Amino acid sequence: MKRGGRILSIGLAAAMGAAMAGCSAGKDTGQPSGADFVQTTVGIYEAEDAVFSGNVQAANPVKDGYSGTGYVEGFQADADSCTFTVTVPEDGFYDLNFVSASSGGEKHNYVSIDGASAGTVYVEESSFTDSGLTRVYLEAGEHEISLSKYWGWIYLDYLEVLTSEPIDERIYEVTAGLCNPNASDETKRLYSYLCDIYGEKFLSGQYCDTGPNGKEFQVIRKATGKTPAVIGLDFIEYTPSRVEHGSKGIATDIAINFWESGGVVTFCWHWNAPSKYLTGQWYSGFYNDYTNIDLAKIMNGEDTEGYELLMEDIDAIAEQLLILQEAKVPILWRPLHEAGGGWFWWGASGPDAYKQLYILLYERLTNEYGLNNLIWVWNGQDAEWYPGDEYVDIIGEDVYPGEKVYTSQVDTYLNAAMNCSTETKLVYMTENGCIFDPDLARRDGAMWGMWCTWSGEFVAKDVAVYTLSEQYTEEYMLIKAYEDEDVITLEDLPDLKTYEIHKDLK
Ligand code: CA
Repeated sequence: MKRGGRILSIGLAAAMGAAMAGCSAGKDTGQPSGADFVQTTVGIYEAEDAVFSGNVQAANPVKDGYSGTGYVEGFQADADSCTFTVTVPEDGFYDLNFVSASSGGEKHNYVSIDGASAGTVYVEESSFTDSGLTRVYLEAGEHEISLSKYWGWIYLDYLEVLTSEPIDERIYEVTAGLCNPNASDETKRLYSYLCDIYGEKFLSGQYCDTGPNGKEFQVIRKATGKTPAVIGLDFIEYTPSRVEHGSKGIATDIAINFWESGGVVTFCWHWNAPSKYLTGQWYSGFYNDYTNIDLAKIMNGEDTEGYELLMEDIDAIAEQLLILQEAKVPILWRPLHEAGGGWFWWGASGPDAYKQLYILLYERLTNEYGLNNLIWVWNGQDAEWYPGDEYVDIIGEDVYPGEKVYTSQVDTYLNAAMNCSTETKLVYMTENGCIFDPDLARRDGAMWGMWCTWSGEFVAKDVAVYTLSEQYTEEYMLIKAYEDEDVITLEDLPDLKTYEIHKDLK
């Protein structure tokens, strides 16, 4: 996770490719099938006629190609927004297209509906172009829809409200096998289970670096009577540049114990850069701001020593993964996370260097170390950073929409499900602040296979006595989510050590 993390919306979902394999019955949402659907415009609202706040104002319309009598500008400070009063005829899903232009380069901005965060939209073109949010649920009647400054620096022409295309049910039917053909039986068993429940159930997950008796698990158990099905762990303290300062990892032992107790384990790795490259406080060395490591130079051969140092770091983590393999623990393995955000050094040299490192890591762990207990979770958060179907089993998105925001993040879900892979793969919310409301996720078709709330203040207060923090998810919503019939907790998991392997994985 990145403190104050941001989600980056990838853009409008593309039409489903014809590459999808056999269509089987998915969940019935009672919607018209895609073939019968014609997208229609419900309303067009000119920005120049909307309500402005802060610095937003009607522009002197020197740019060409606008609609109506002009456009607005002035998205500069945090309170700057443009609000449309929109009326829709019936309850349902709508696409919101903010036709806008960038003042230079990619610009992301917030959308809110009736005061609640609804996601982000982005525009890159300097001429007026589409910038949309898909599948927003609106009840019949009037709504206040705002575009407000996140990065700012756009010209907004108008808002077009359209009916949404129904979800193609095939996105819930996983067509991909495991990318490692030598995956171990325990890994195949776990993956078979994950595919079986996908599209119907949500795995509950929680990061907790002190294990299932740590504060995050304890406060959840106290509030809900349930235990998360998935524990989120981090190889951070095994990284050589931290071990040099006395760090001692305990995550491997926790993982073995949790798996033995019937749970599922996911690992990320806050990869502290090698000491040579640390420029600030050593313990923040995974952030780009605290290291001068240049991944592009390492991957193109200019920095050969850097390459060797990274290989030594990988060796240190491989040693832990081998222990887990020996103990027959399959891992949902999420290395090089949130790359597209650029705040970690592995994401700071752009997608090409990142993809080279991701593939190198895959090849080294899979083929040199023979690690067959890994289910590869790609968390690049942007289709441009996708390394290829042969290196990815699960597409992960990290979502931090704010405090007490329980919306389904369906736009992010659909982007991940439809814009990266040519196969259907599992799509997980690999980190979150707030927990989404399962009712809203089902309604919207945002069938995240898992959530995994980050640790600390996202669930537990930092005090001596374990106390629930309601800053992000309030207790009533935590209870609602953990008691939901479609949410899988530790108590609900089948025996994964004997779970039947799908015949196409054998
Ligand atoms: Ca206009």
